[in-house]
Amino acid sequence: MWNPSKLNLNKKIPAFAGMTIMNIKNYINGQFENPINNEWLDNYCPANGEVYGILPNSSKDDVENAYIAAQSAFPIWSQTTIEERSRILIKISELIEANLQRFAEAESKDNGKPIGLAKSVDIPRAASNFRFFGNAITQFASESHESIGQQAINYTLRQPIGVVGCISPWNLPLYLFTWKIAPAIAAGNCVVAKPSEVTPMTAYLLGEICTEAGLPKGVLNIVHGLGTTTGQAIVEHPDIKAISFTGGTATGAHIAKVAAPMFKKLSLELGGKNPNIIFADCDYQDMLKTTVRSSFSNQGQICLCGSRIFVEATIYKRFKKDFVQKVKQLKVGHPSEESTDIGALVSKSHLEKVLQYINIAKQENGTVLCGDNKVTLKDYENGYYLEPTVIEVITDDCRINQEEVFGPVVTIMPFNYDDEVLQMANKVKYGLSATIWTNDLKRTMRMSNQIQAGIIWVNTWMLRDLRTPFGGVKASGVGREGGFEALRFFTEAKNVCVKY
Ligand code: NDP
Repeated sequence: MWNPSKLNLNKKIPAFAGMTIMNIKNYINGQFENPINNEWLDNYCPANGEVYGILPNSSKDDVENAYIAAQSAFPIWSQTTIEERSRILIKISELIEANLQRFAEAESKDNGKPIGLAKSVDIPRAASNFRFFGNAITQFASESHESIGQQAINYTLRQPIGVVGCISPWNLPLYLFTWKIAPAIAAGNCVVAKPSEVTPMTAYLLGEICTEAGLPKGVLNIVHGLGTTTGQAIVEHPDIKAISFTGGTATGAHIAKVAAPMFKKLSLELGGKNPNIIFADCDYQDMLKTTVRSSFSNQGQICLCGSRIFVEATIYKRFKKDFVQKVKQLKVGHPSEESTDIGALVSKSHLEKVLQYINIAKQENGTVLCGDNKVTLKDYENGYYLEPTVIEVITDDCRINQEEVFGPVVTIMPFNYDDEVLQMANKVKYGLSATIWTNDLKRTMRMSNQIQAGIIWVNTWMLRDLRTPFGGVKASGVGREGGFEALRFFTEAKNVCVKY
């Protein structure tokens, strides 16, 4: 841990010449604050393994201050007109877009993701989240039912919950952080939010943007720190009435246990081990190109990546050759270079975990077809780089096929029958998403109906429409985000029955 007084705030970081050590602070009641205990954590740059910033190691007291700010802002914010809330959300969206380059560089540096990806996907999506929910709230209608014969009418009020907690992971830092915050504040709640301690940068920048956009003080409060202390304090807070969490399944289970006795509303978006099912009748080239993307986008660190690839036996040999050839062409490089396909993994410990899984796969008779090597980039020898790895497995039961690796590693194996692949697709504890490649309509319908997952893509991957429900079944989570589902989560339905 750093003592900030000893920190050289002007230290130049070689990987990103011209930038200085960043001193990230909490954003509470519209102000940037040091943590009360004055304890700080190091923020590492995955591209070179160096510390390039510090962030608060916030305690329960910081969370309490954030809660007090949110609670004080709630009476006014919840009564602010829909038009005004919408206007502010859209302004935040515009300011993120206006600062695209700055946000994208920060995200890439903090997370290790290629700058091109941050610029074309992550940051534009964060802006879209605010624009989308700024518009969606103006269309969020509630139901009414006339009780005919009883001379009564029922109408439903959708009231904001109060102070809500939003906790997000490191893989799509601003994208997922704002996916929660935008609907929460659009619906009239005030928020205490915690980004992952591994990737706090863009959440920090968001505070500035919110102030500039005119978001009233206390509506959004961002507290940085460790999950087990800061995050836990949010979940344990008796007056934070709802928790929207995205992260690992084990953390989700723990949060559910802590929150249940307090009857908090919970939305849990958790891990995945998604099947990518390829039938011989698919559009082959389209499938091949998209399968490379769905396997290795963001270094495979997307909960929706298709990490288990099942290929119909008649095209298996051809697929294996073509896929491996394409994967070998991916460029592992420094995240700040536009030509990089595969950047750095998020942290040293995560890199070690992914390597361990490759070893486990080998012990279980998996054959590595390509990858499996750490990559050492000149001048960035301590960065967390790994070649994209393809492993051929002989059975679906092996650990690499059952457990979430969350890195640039996929398995491939052949199948012969629809029923066989359906069974394998469902034989995991997770149920987040699945991709199916086929031009057969009957097969499409049968597979989509029977695969146990919250999201099915047919002949595409990661095509997102923000109006659609998003979430998983089984160990992949509880509840749905997206569109009106998110606004429903962040409101309480109250039915009023009037007899006339
Ligand atoms: P974690 O579960 O480790 O952490 C997620 C967030 O929860 C972080 O902010 C973390 O803080 C915090 N946290 C950790 N412990 C607690 C606790 N006891 N109480 C409250 N908060 C806590 O997940 P990762 O960050 O490692 O993210 C990767 C996981 O997220 C993968 O399993 C992936 O599948 C999943 N994910 C799911 C998505 C979905 O939509 N279903 C989308 C994206 C990712 P800190 O990191 O600072 O310790």
